[in-house]
Amino acid sequence: MIIAVDGPTASGKGTIAKRLAEHYGLPHLDTGLLYRAVGRQVAIDGGDANDPDDALAACDFDDALLDDEILRSEEVGGLASRVSVHPRVREALFQRQRAFATQPGGAVLDGRDIGTVIAPEADVKLFITASVTERARRRWLEMIDKHIGDEDDIPLSEIEQDIVRRDARDISRADAPLRAAPDALIIDTTSFDREQAFEVVLEAVENCLK
Ligand code: C5P
Repeated sequence: MIIAVDGPTASGKGTIAKRLAEHYGLPHLDTGLLYRAVGRQVAIDGGDANDPDDALAACDFDDALLDDEILRSEEVGGLASRVSVHPRVREALFQRQRAFATQPGGAVLDGRDIGTVIAPEADVKLFITASVTERARRRWLEMIDKHIGDEDDIPLSEIEQDIVRRDARDISRADAPLRAAPDALIIDTTSFDREQAFEVVLEAVENCLK
């Protein structure tokens, strides 16, 4: 069984995908981490994330980089959204994601284009979303929780603007833009906490599998 979980940044899709994988005993791939590794590698190489050649060269990153906590930073997230615009980068990362999706027994993958490009044949396609304000609030709480800063030095408005910029880049790119597959279940988690969101998703998945 393949479960595709797509959605914009900070929508909670990563947590939902992880929990679905645990629930169904399936392996999980956070595909955003691959783009983050490319973004980080460009910075290590002293390249420019907007340059397609620099970004393509960075696709050769060492897998050990995937365990580096720095990949979770906002800065690397921004670089990831820049390198992910280049078609050749998407092509370079395609086979790895495709192989993961089609492994025997199935898998859960989360990202932006899983249901549309990586695994259009997925048994379940979810598109998880939430309002920009709510996503910014969640990201802000997460940053405080991770001690990335305290309430006074992380302006919520800046996080919100960053999310809007990243959404715009993900939605407007020509290759594999962020959009729900026509047959995806769209779930808006704005008014749910984590637990409620997972319950709603699980029920939707179960209905879909009936
Ligand atoms: O999901 P995450 O925030 O870690 O993804 C970082 C960036 O990588 C996204 O903003 C998006 O531009 C890109 N990405 C993508 N396709 C995916 C996963 C992530 O373009 N399947």
